[in-house]
Amino acid sequence: MSDKRDYYEVLGVAKNATADEIKSAYRKLAMKYHPDRNPGDKAAEEKFKEAAEAYDVLHDADKRARYDQFGHQAFANGGGGGGFGAGGMNMDDIFSMFGDIFGGRGGGGASFRFDDFFGGGRQRAADPSASRRGDDMTFRLEIDFDEAIFGSERTLELTLPVECSECKGTGAAPGSQRKTCPTCNGRGVVIGGSGFFQVRQTCHACGGEGSIIEKPCRKCRGTGQTTQPTKISLKIPAGISHGSRLRLAGKGAGGLRGGENGDLYVLIEIKPSDIFEREGQDLFVDIPISPVTAALGGTISVPTPEGEAQLKIPAGTSNGKIFRLRGKGVPSLRGGPSGDLDARIIIETPANLDRRQRELLEEFANISKGGGTFPQAQTFENRVRVFYSHRDKLKK
Ligand SMILES: [Zn+2]
Ligand SMILES: [Zn+2]
Repeated sequence: MSDKRDYYEVLGVAKNATADEIKSAYRKLAMKYHPDRNPGDKAAEEKFKEAAEAYDVLHDADKRARYDQFGHQAFANGGGGGGFGAGGMNMDDIFSMFGDIFGGRGGGGASFRFDDFFGGGRQRAADPSASRRGDDMTFRLEIDFDEAIFGSERTLELTLPVECSECKGTGAAPGSQRKTCPTCNGRGVVIGGSGFFQVRQTCHACGGEGSIIEKPCRKCRGTGQTTQPTKISLKIPAGISHGSRLRLAGKGAGGLRGGENGDLYVLIEIKPSDIFEREGQDLFVDIPISPVTAALGGTISVPTPEGEAQLKIPAGTSNGKIFRLRGKGVPSLRGGPSGDLDARIIIETPANLDRRQRELLEEFANISKGGGTFPQAQTFENRVRVFYSHRDKLKK
């Protein structure tokens, strides 16, 4: 705790600095130590985080007041309900804060990309003849509820980017050459930008490569890539959960000019079941039963992934009672214990009564007055009676 630097010192501003001074100081530091500009430099990354943390506290009037009074202690031990100010910011927080300050506003909430902002920080143009790894691709796959429980095999039919066979990924028509990009004179970047300061941006004419294709390949229109329908077989493991990602190494977009293929990620979405609810490996099922079964007890059937299970319920079972069937839920993904299945009893009120049924229920009601047939109703009635007798005494 004590080795934390003073936030004012971190930003290099006076204790009475204005909000604008604080913002400006942070902006300078953030630009200087931004990871895009200092790739792999751990010390710069620490400075970048330190500055963000200091800014996060000092630009907020409330946090700043607390900091002025208590110093770093103000945010220690989660004193502020956790959150920022105690090194609790992750890089996503920092980048989103950074975006709010320098880019996000006025753009209708448009997302802010650092690559665009800094032009990738590249000093030299990329080599257009170098090999390039294919992109990772993500494919959403909707599967049935029981498929997720038992696993299955699927054949995916995808159209994936592959290297153009005509130009071998160069994008140039066979026999033609590349020429120096006239927009950036081969540097791959241009100076542009508006607002606070000038920025280096990737040259859009050549995509940062510094050269352009004189005669584009006709098959791929100069991109070096075409698409190709592909079939991929996929094993879906039993017990997989909603939102899981399966990675198929090397099955993504094809690499260019000798580069390796990207990976394919399959994002699993499970269709809901009309019988079960699922939470992790546990299943939940509501079972409607008649009041007669609930009163007399009996054996009911409970659906489980493995088939019907018989469940004995005792006489006098009340509505909403949950019976846990251990190990009858979803089998575990890696051979561990299976989930449980919770069966909840829903007592269904009889409807569409015929005359005879009505007579029997009326007779039942008549002979059930008093006694202990409906203890809950009895207790409730007694409490209500006591309530009114107290009230009447007070009113006198
Ligand atoms: Zn081509
Ligand atoms: Zn260019």
